[in-house]
Amino acid sequence: MAVVIVGSMAFDTIETPFDRKERVLGGSCTYGAIAASLFDNPKIVGVVGDDFKDEHLDILKSKGVDTAGVSREKGKSFFWEGKYHLDMNTRETIKTELNVFEKFDPKIPENYKEAGFLFLANIDPELQLKVLSSMQSPDFVVCDTMNLWIDIKKEKLEEVFRRVDCVVLNDEEVRQYTGKANLLTGAKEIQKAGVTYVIIKKGEHGASILGPEGFYFSAPSFPVENVTDPTGAGDSFAGAFIGYIASAAKGGKISRDMIKKAVVYGNAVASYTVEGFSIDRLSSVSMKKIDERIEEIRNITLF
Ligand code: AMP
Repeated sequence: MAVVIVGSMAFDTIETPFDRKERVLGGSCTYGAIAASLFDNPKIVGVVGDDFKDEHLDILKSKGVDTAGVSREKGKSFFWEGKYHLDMNTRETIKTELNVFEKFDPKIPENYKEAGFLFLANIDPELQLKVLSSMQSPDFVVCDTMNLWIDIKKEKLEEVFRRVDCVVLNDEEVRQYTGKANLLTGAKEIQKAGVTYVIIKKGEHGASILGPEGFYFSAPSFPVENVTDPTGAGDSFAGAFIGYIASAAKGGKISRDMIKKAVVYGNAVASYTVEGFSIDRLSSVSMKKIDERIEEIRNITLF
């Protein structure tokens, strides 16, 4: 079953305590699509400027990603600059230049509309709502967001949350959204507002998911020692999560077992993303390598 992904396509400048890279390929849609392409042929919707070369789109196409929904506009692509400190779980945004992303008006190609799975990566919640209305009736919708939208568009975001099946937030976002110190209490509050599944990402400490009828599952991250650039870990997690579900469910029922495995696949795929700058490591990893890490995660959690 097809997965549609809508989000940012960007150039990022990244600084870590150990290195700096200028204008490398990034964006929530880019990371999400490459991660999902391990399981499915995702169809993406985004906007790029004239600085976004064919070779950049070719990277996505070579992974089986359908780029028919990417529009190219006059001007520069979205640009983001971030800086990580010694604790690479936290980062600072140094610069955001919206450029062509400022007027992003996602147009969903006709052959995308009947897709069963939708990942609304981090974009303005008003655009997320527009995309939701353009789709026929997806079986499973996952949405991401960021601190900016919780700050300035909380009401729209609440509307998005009521209309999707699963929200993916990091620990800080759960606290910011709910004002609760305890993550489980916060996630339960978000669930009560009408979301079936709430995922809490905790960086190097793994991810937990809260579901219906008291369903709760938690999985550690794969222990990576050579963290090079954490950018895109969250988007890769979500892309792999929905990609796995789409490939396992094949239009049928989404079981709890599938959801659990999808969380572990999300963690395994994200563990490769952080081992390189930009999409370098993520785009070269094989399913065999992912499965090796799945096995390792199983070994370190069995008792
Ligand atoms: P993550 O590390 O998973 O949170 O995602 C990082 C990616 O999000 C980077 O490649 C950025 O280009 C992208 N990004 C940063 N700020 C925004 C924003 N305001 N809207 C959409 N995407 C963004």
